[in-house]
Amino acid sequence: MNIEQTRVVVIATSNKGKVKEFANWFGARGMEVRSLADYDNLPELIEDGDTFAANARIKAETIAKHLSLPVLADDSGLSVDRLGGDPGVYSARYAGEPSSDANNNAKLLHELGILGETDGFIPTKLPSSVSGENNNALVLLSQAHFVSALALALPEQGTTLEAEGRCSGYILSEPRGTSGFGYDPLFYLPEFDKTMAELSLDQKNKISHRAKALELFFQKYPDPFGA
Ligand code: IMP
Repeated sequence: MNIEQTRVVVIATSNKGKVKEFANWFGARGMEVRSLADYDNLPELIEDGDTFAANARIKAETIAKHLSLPVLADDSGLSVDRLGGDPGVYSARYAGEPSSDANNNAKLLHELGILGETDGFIPTKLPSSVSGENNNALVLLSQAHFVSALALALPEQGTTLEAEGRCSGYILSEPRGTSGFGYDPLFYLPEFDKTMAELSLDQKNKISHRAKALELFFQKYPDPFGA
């Protein structure tokens, strides 16, 4: 077996925050972590899967085949119960291209607003005090889940290992907080009485869908490269 293949894992993202989060887990297991930023002329990634898991697999397997190295990919997004799982795999471009977090959040509130109470849902008032004023006006519009699917493609073994993590909460009727990204300001966590955008990055990284997916991944595959 090629020694390099037992030690290197390439993370299929150029997002520095994600690379850091994944590098912590794989680095702690003695692996050298690289990212797409370390390579030129990579093949185009066509994420046309119907599920987060399918898209993670497409990314990991495409790059792994090209580099002949183990590649970890993740695909993540928001699944809102009252919208039948939308925006799902379209989370990044829910409000169209070019993608914008503000437009995506506005579209999400718009879609839940159109729904009103037609599906029998009664908006729930907040138990107490999400930071800020006028909390009486705040309601929880739907249960929702951040989902992260991980796929580790191992070209030498001819296999791909997978795990999926979730972080569950509610969609709040107004954005709150300034940290994080994406749908964080609308994602309310009752156990903290805060939105995801009101948590510190450290707190978020402990409870996030990506953290859960990594935890589950290493529970399922304690020695993924020996598998
Ligand atoms: P990606 O798969 O990480 O590129 O995420 C796709 C989209 O899902 C992002 O553009 C965000 O809109 C949303 N998303 C994924 N993870 C998070 C998160 O931790 N907070 C907020 N939004 C997220």
